[in-house]
Amino acid sequence: MSFDLPFRFRRLRKNKTIRDLISRVELTANDFVYPIFVEEGLEGRAESDSLPGVFRVGETALAAEINMLWEKGIKAVMLFGVSHHKDEEGSDTWDEEGLIARMIRIVKDQAPDMVIMADACFCQYTTHGHCGVLINDHVDNDLTLENLQKQAINAAEAGADFIAPSAMMDGQVMAIRDALDEAGFEDVGVLSYSSKFASDLYGPFRGAAGCSLKQGDRKAYQADYRHYELALEESMVDIEEGADMLMVKPGTLYLDVLKGIRENTSLPVAAYHVSGEYAMIKHAALAGALDEKKVVLETMVAFKRAGADLVITYYAPQILDWLKD
Ligand SMILES: [Zn+2]
Repeated sequence: MSFDLPFRFRRLRKNKTIRDLISRVELTANDFVYPIFVEEGLEGRAESDSLPGVFRVGETALAAEINMLWEKGIKAVMLFGVSHHKDEEGSDTWDEEGLIARMIRIVKDQAPDMVIMADACFCQYTTHGHCGVLINDHVDNDLTLENLQKQAINAAEAGADFIAPSAMMDGQVMAIRDALDEAGFEDVGVLSYSSKFASDLYGPFRGAAGCSLKQGDRKAYQADYRHYELALEESMVDIEEGADMLMVKPGTLYLDVLKGIRENTSLPVAAYHVSGEYAMIKHAALAGALDEKKVVLETMVAFKRAGADLVITYYAPQILDWLKD
């Protein structure tokens, strides 16, 4: 006997060919940005303790690393410096011979078509580990904006395609856009960390990048994860300030915010699959609790389904290998 059902969804799922024909999300090499930690003075590569499979790369090994990634199909990288020249303000970031300028030049020399997203912040370059100028234990917004302008121009001069401010200072997109235009870099874009939450999922990154806070937290400048509307508003304000692309960070726990931004703009939106999200899958897989490949691909599809155009993830090279299988 058969029931008179209003609709039988199983007709659309009968076999893989039909499922693939009607699927609305396809992962390709064009979806991924790979974050790289470049450590000053390091010889070769060193695996991160907290992030198995993620390596800090020395400057002398960076060209070979970029060559390998380009051959693999990686088209965009986000560079994070692991600095051993820290001071109170992070002045190495605007030094023409500083780590940011050097690592960008190495990547551009090796792979001129590789898109470089230059993270713009100070926490990896300050002795206190905060994301800006510290005055009486408080990060001063406008003094930090001036330094962000200097850092952005330095990165643009070295060859960055996009400046990606992650400091979460108010007005950072406008300040960087103004500085770039004034210096003649109208074609260098701004990828704003527009909805970046004060999350505890950044822990493994801070270990890998050597930028743990000496004291305090970042809750006075990063977004409060209990407030959806303000996080959305922060992205909308960044559009007014001149952002070319937006970002939600972290990704997995913030798909509602990603979808909200998607529904309010046609600009490209990125999701940052952060170190803690990587670590949760990686360590569960190492313990035999999860199928790593299946869970990673499901996660990436979820970002795209929610509206992401780009995903920044430490899994990027591995995903490209899996997609070729
Ligand atoms: Zn920072």
